[in-house]
Amino acid sequence: MSNALRAVRGMNDLLPADAPLWAHFENIIRDWLKSYGYREMRTPILEHTGLFKRAIGEVTDIVEKEMYTFVDALNGESMTLRPEGTASCVRAAIEHSLLHDGGKRLWYAGPMFRHERPQKGRYRQFHQVGVEALGFAGPDLDVEHLLMTARLWKKLGLAEFIQLEINTLGGAEARASHREKLIAYFAAHIDQLDADSQRRLHTNPLRILDSKNPAMQVLVEAAPRLMDELDEAALTHFEAVKQGLDDAGIAYRVNTRLVRGLDYYNYTVFEWVTDQLGAQGTVCAGGRYDGLVAQLGGKPAPACGFAMGVERLLVMMAEAGLAPAPDAPDVYVVNVGDAAARAAPVIAETLRDAGLDVVLHGGGGSFKAQMKKADASLARFAVLIGDDEVAANQVTVKPLRGEYQQNDPQLGQQRLAIADAIELLKG
Ligand code: ATP
Ligand code: MG
Repeated sequence: MSNALRAVRGMNDLLPADAPLWAHFENIIRDWLKSYGYREMRTPILEHTGLFKRAIGEVTDIVEKEMYTFVDALNGESMTLRPEGTASCVRAAIEHSLLHDGGKRLWYAGPMFRHERPQKGRYRQFHQVGVEALGFAGPDLDVEHLLMTARLWKKLGLAEFIQLEINTLGGAEARASHREKLIAYFAAHIDQLDADSQRRLHTNPLRILDSKNPAMQVLVEAAPRLMDELDEAALTHFEAVKQGLDDAGIAYRVNTRLVRGLDYYNYTVFEWVTDQLGAQGTVCAGGRYDGLVAQLGGKPAPACGFAMGVERLLVMMAEAGLAPAPDAPDVYVVNVGDAAARAAPVIAETLRDAGLDVVLHGGGGSFKAQMKKADASLARFAVLIGDDEVAANQVTVKPLRGEYQQNDPQLGQQRLAIADAIELLKG
């Protein structure tokens, strides 16, 4: 096996054993989004690199070092595998004039790509479910997003493990004046900054606040606060968001150091965090991005949204024992002999016509070997077809679960006409 091909590092296969948990999660997600009036969209996985540079920001971690970018050999254009969904969603909304008759509530789900160091909860292909409300000035929509995410954690069974942190980044003026003060402050302490932060000092000083470097924590704690620069409108918006959370009885912590790694945010930002996943503690993040639609060439429109990391939520669900049992068919059809082998596919179709889930034994083999497969399939019943059954236009129904799992091979077994067998199997 030494020269066997392997998947790309950090990109995972979804195998049948884990598929029921994904399907369970996706079903909950669809119902949940429908219950808030959000509508699905799907955009391409590949976009022009310029989209992400313009939307996410040139000096963010994502654009600087995490994007899968390559030159299309056929036309020389720079292409990028999408690292997140908001940019594409807004691009599509502008391109198809989705906002011409007012605000839209949208969602999408699918794989995203970032060239990061793979570890538990951090992959190079990972999945997000994203929600965007385009064309709403809020703060009612900010509150809606927080209430709906809170409801989702309950539906998933994870509410006790996930906490909300919120912050406000204010408007453009406050950020500009805060930025000047930050640069002056950090420049005065430049010897205490690590290399990353020194590099960011003039390009993205806000990100220094997000540094996880323990040696810089004292410096960062004492840095000028954006809170002190906020104007009336930003404060009023933030107060209304907090009020909405209080009214709904949703607990939160104001974390004034929460800045997010994407440039397009203003006003509200939030993260839902957990201590169940080690360093990869954020399961959902988002906020308001009122400037992005105009920045990408659309008619100015306010907006807010969020995205959640599917793998991280699924790890939590699996660890909490919330993975559903694998799907089992109702019936496993065993067939021995040439006549039975011919009749079996037709009988199986008749059972499916009646709404039963049916696995038809494939590949022949002895009765005993087929019965082993029937047991392993977790089906509730085996339907046995031999030459005798074919001649009599009947089948033998054998219960496989519960009290019938005993030693007596004949226990509960009945030979019936197909119509009667269906009645028994459906009962
Ligand atoms: P982090 O701080 O963990 O790198 P981020 O701020 O880069 O996260 P966002 O761009 O806000 O993440 O993406 C939203 C969510 O997508 C994250 O909260 C996380 O749950 C998930 N996510 C982001 N990057 C990855 C990854 N490489 N692998 C798995 N999930 C991820
Ligand atoms: Mg990241």
